[in-house]
Amino acid sequence: MQSRVALVTGGTGGIGTSIIRRLAQSGHRVATNYRDEARALAWQALMRDQGVEVALARGDVSSAEESAGMVREVERQLGPVDILINNAGITRDSTFHRMDVLQWNEVISTNLNSCFNVTRPVIEGMRERRWGRVVQISSINGLKGQYGQANYAAAKAGMHGFTISLARENARFGITVNTVSPGYVATDMVMAVPEEVRAKIVAEIPTGRLGAPEEIAYAVSFLTADEAAWITGSNLDINGGHHMGW
Ligand code: NDP
Repeated sequence: MQSRVALVTGGTGGIGTSIIRRLAQSGHRVATNYRDEARALAWQALMRDQGVEVALARGDVSSAEESAGMVREVERQLGPVDILINNAGITRDSTFHRMDVLQWNEVISTNLNSCFNVTRPVIEGMRERRWGRVVQISSINGLKGQYGQANYAAAKAGMHGFTISLARENARFGITVNTVSPGYVATDMVMAVPEEVRAKIVAEIPTGRLGAPEEIAYAVSFLTADEAAWITGSNLDINGGHHMGW
């Protein structure tokens, strides 16, 4: 497999770390963003101990300006970005009748506007080089909705519209654009959910357990491979059977 440059946003988080590890194991040069430098450096050292060298670039993906700077820094360190994984995301849960505008805007900016902010600075280079892979990490809740997550579900559903439009525009340039929609994965985001709520969620999952971050990373590495050149505009559901079909 040819070694490429891969930028994974939110690479220091639960799913992001697994994606980074997997893409590095595939021989790619990997990078991620950070906001808290001390935390990022500690994480980078941990990854280095595991044999994974990760380039770091400061940047908040909810800001177009910071995202552009982040991409420039990654390209300065590693070269042009060939593989982009839009993975950074947050939740600010509340039933809609109690949701404030900050909760709405933070989630839309971080989870959806980020797709514009980070993809825009890399897409022209991919088109010029006639090769690219863009994967959005959406969510099961962008497909089926979730109580208390009107903001999150709207952002995650929006990623699909973004994906299928970008896929159409760029298919002739050797660029594929897809989404992966994980179900509930055992990361900090899900472990922060109260235990009794988590138990109810697990009871609804046919496989009887939460997903592992490595299981999401596996799908991402599949979609970013050279051999996946004919898979574009697709969504890959990975949820232990929790939600099937549209
Ligand atoms: P984590 O909370 O473990 O990691 C989130 C990552 O995103 C962190 O690295 C965080 O960095 C980064 N991030 C958050 N906000 C910003 C921002 N404004 N700018 C830059 N980076 C930011 O989450 P997961 O690994 O669980 O989730 C990863 C993705 O997968 C998310 O998009 C999530 O919605 C999605 N997903 C997760 C599921 C799950 O069950 N865990 C299920 C379905 C989808 P920092 O440390 O600086 O905050």
